[in-house]
This record gives sequence, C-alpha cells and structure tokens, in this order.
Amino acid sequence: MTIAFADLLQRYFGYPSFRGSQQAVIEHVTGGGHALLIAPTGMGKSLCYQIPALHLAETHADEQPRHLTLVISPLIALMKDQVDALVAKGIAATFVNSSLTRDERNQRYAEIAEGQFDLLYVTPERFRKPDFVELIQRRSVRLLAVDEAHCISHWGHDFRPDYTRLADIRQLLGNPTTIALTATATPTVQQDVVKQLGLKPHEVRLFHEGIERPNLKLEVIKTWGDDEKLDYICQVNQQIPGSGIVYFTLIRTLERFGERLRQRGVHHLIYHGELPRTRRREVQNWFMSDECLVLATNAFGMGIDKESIRFVIHAELPGSMESYYQEIGRAGRDGQPSKCTLLYDEADLETQLEFMRWSNPDAEFYRRVYDLLEHDAEQVSAFGIEWLAEKLHAKQRHDHRLETVLGMLDRYGVIEGTLSPLKVRVVAPLPADLRSEQRLQDKLQADRQKLLSLVQYANCDGDLKQFIHEYFGVPAPT
Ligand code: ADP
Ligand code: MG
Repeated sequence: MTIAFADLLQRYFGYPSFRGSQQAVIEHVTGGGHALLIAPTGMGKSLCYQIPALHLAETHADEQPRHLTLVISPLIALMKDQVDALVAKGIAATFVNSSLTRDERNQRYAEIAEGQFDLLYVTPERFRKPDFVELIQRRSVRLLAVDEAHCISHWGHDFRPDYTRLADIRQLLGNPTTIALTATATPTVQQDVVKQLGLKPHEVRLFHEGIERPNLKLEVIKTWGDDEKLDYICQVNQQIPGSGIVYFTLIRTLERFGERLRQRGVHHLIYHGELPRTRRREVQNWFMSDECLVLATNAFGMGIDKESIRFVIHAELPGSMESYYQEIGRAGRDGQPSKCTLLYDEADLETQLEFMRWSNPDAEFYRRVYDLLEHDAEQVSAFGIEWLAEKLHAKQRHDHRLETVLGMLDRYGVIEGTLSPLKVRVVAPLPADLRSEQRLQDKLQADRQKLLSLVQYANCDGDLKQFIHEYFGVPAPT
C-alpha cells in the first residue's frame, strides 16, 4: 500500500499543501537519507519528521515490534505542549522527561515496552539512564530526529553536553535514519552537527531554507545614554500599534527603564528570570491575550508564539548574533511588516564584557564549588545557595558565577536534584571540560569573538540582512 505524504498532511494536520522544502525533506528522509534542515522558526520543521514518522507507522502497521520515531529535544518546557497537540490530532505520541513523577514515568515506560506510540520525545539526558537505554533498545527506532541541533556545538549559545553523545546514541539505536533540525547554524556548527552525529559530510544532505524574513525591517541606531533610548522606545511604542518587546541584558537596567517609563506614563509589563514563576505565567498570559509592551530579559520568549509581535527593540547589546537573531525572529510571525531595532551605545559593550566574565568562571572556581557541594552537602541543603555564595565570597551583586557553575554541573550530569531551591547531590566527578583552564579560557575567547561580530553588525554601513546571511553562511540565492 502506498500512502501519499499529501494525504497524511491533510488527514492529520488538515493542511492543503507543503511549504518550502518540506516535501523534498520528507521524501529524502523517508527514502532513508540523513538530513540537516536549517529553516527559520515557524516554517514548520517539525512536520519534516512527523510526516515520515506517520508514514513509517502506517506502512509497517502490521510488523512487530512496532516502528518508532525518536525525537530528541532539549526543551522540556515545550515537550508537553507539542505532544498534547499531536495527541489531539489522533497521533500516537508521548514524551519522557524529568517533569514526570516516578509513577508516571514507570507507567510510560511500561507502555513504551508494550509497543505503544509511534513518536517518542525525550531529552538527550534521558540516555544517561540505563533503564531507558535498555527499554529503547527493545523498540525498533527507524527514524531519529534531533531538534534544536545547534545545541551540539561547544561554542554555541546553548550548548548541551549530552548532545555530544549523539554518535553513541545513534549506534545504540542501530544507526537509524537521522534528521537534524535548527533555525540557525553557522557553517562551523553545521560541520559540528554532522560530526557529532557520527556521520560523514557526504552522507548528510543539507536543506538550507535561508533565514530570510522579508517582513522584518532591521535597523541599528547609535545612542548615547538612557534618555535617547527611552525617547526611541516611547516613539516606536506610540507610532506602531500592536505588541512589542524591549530586550535587556541586565535586570537592573530593565528595572531602571521600567521606572523611567512608568514616570512617563507608558504602560508596560516586566518579565525576567528572577520573578516568581506564577508572576511570569501571569505576564505571559497577559502578553498572549492583549496588545502590550513588555520589557524583558532573554528569559522571555521561549514558548511564546504570539504571531503578531510588531516590534522588537534591543535596548542593550545582546551577547551574540545567534541570540540576536533568535530574539528578533519572534517579531512578525504572521508575515506582517515588523520592526527590529538594535539600540547601540558603545558603553554597553563593557556591560556585555563584564557579563561574559561572570558567565565564564575559571577552573579554580569550578573546583571550589564542586568541593563544597561534595564535602559540605549538609550545610548546602540546610542553608542553600546564599551559604554557598558566602563561602565563595561571591557576594558581589552581579557575580552570577555560582549560578553558571551550578547550571553547568547540572547539564553535565555532575549533580542531580533541583537548582531552585537548591537541593542537589553530587553523582559524578568533575568532567575534564570543566577542569581544564585552557578549555575554559578558549570558551571565553570564543564568546568574546561572538560579541565582536555583533559589534561589527552594529557598525555595519551596508545591508544588515546581507551581514547576517554571511554570518550564518546562507547560500546565495540561485
Ligand atoms: P519550526 O519548528 O520550524 O519553528 P513548527 O514545526 O513548530 O515550526 O511549525 C510552526 C507552525 O506551522 C505549526 O503551527 C505548524 O502546524 C504550521 N505548519 C507547518 N507546516 C505547515 C503547512 N505545510 N501548512 C500550514 N501550516 C503549517
Ligand atoms: Mg521547532
């Protein structure tokens, strides 16, 4: 029986036709070819593995064990929503991640072992668990999708150590057909993705949709001091109807601007990572349901799929082109004209450099935190992060080295538990990556280099979109 892709698209998703390179990618992958797909957020990358997954399930419906498509995604926060949406369409999808209780997880494992589900979403960290590895090997994984594949890159803005184990993971699964997906990857990151998958460049077909968003108008404005920035924000907010986001690097700047805007009578919402979770939810909900202005740090945006964001202003220089592009990418998802402005004050460079220093603790600092966690576990669990900070003399207001280290130890699987409130235990030695001063220095250097690219962007006299295309190695239009 042959099942047409267009039929699956219509039947499950109710869409009349494919977009861009979707069909080409789907054909390639279903034919057993590996693929790397780079396409702008919102283009519909997920369909490029969901349709092959459904095709696989329907064409092999009678075979045992049932074929499974495994999706690796770093975004726990979005997994449940993604899966719920699929289930609502009648697709046998599920997920396993650390948000499940032990009972829920065991239940889910039992269902997977029984052969239920055509699509399974997991984080890469799941492969640290021997019971999961054993379970998944009993299923026949024919297709592996690696979402947000840029997380593979050591030097990327969102590195996930477990992504570097993908070659092992593929092998463990019997080298299934693999599709990696991301919105942005520089040529270096593209090569890295292929390598980390344990594949050779000629084995992976690159589908590059470009990153062009024709409805976004890019602009850089050089400013001096807060007032010029405030004037600009007020002006844009007044002239452009609809919702907008103003991004800041530091919470203290955000708060200062919030206060100044309040004095000027400009209504706005505030969103950053230090607000209580319930408050953050509230702000997100307001933003989704109404037209408004929100002042935010980069904590705002993940999972926000408001289509009609009319402007994104950066009131402080972000850390890299990758972050900048991701953040302005939230504007104009509905295809309507939208404005993206970088307000560049040379003085902000120092802020970003300082931020970068705190984000790159040295090997000695890693070792001290590790020792405290290991040897003073009782105090840590009794008195929490403040006690640790005290011990490390890291009490200076903007010193976020401790948070950085805890985050990294968590990502590397050195500690287990929750970070806030801090309830963790050490389960592994400090990995070589975090012990090598040379390596940590290289990382800092690479971060500085990324920042430099953004400074060049801010000073670019030519075509801003062209600059971005060159940065991301987008092939010239044919
Ligand atoms: P990406 O991962 O590239 O950011 P998603 O896969 O999340 O994008 O898809 C974004 C939206 O586009 C989803 O709501 C999806 O259902 C929709 N979509 C995808 N493909 C099509 C299509 N061919 N026709 C209409 N809508 C589509
Ligand atoms: Mg996606």
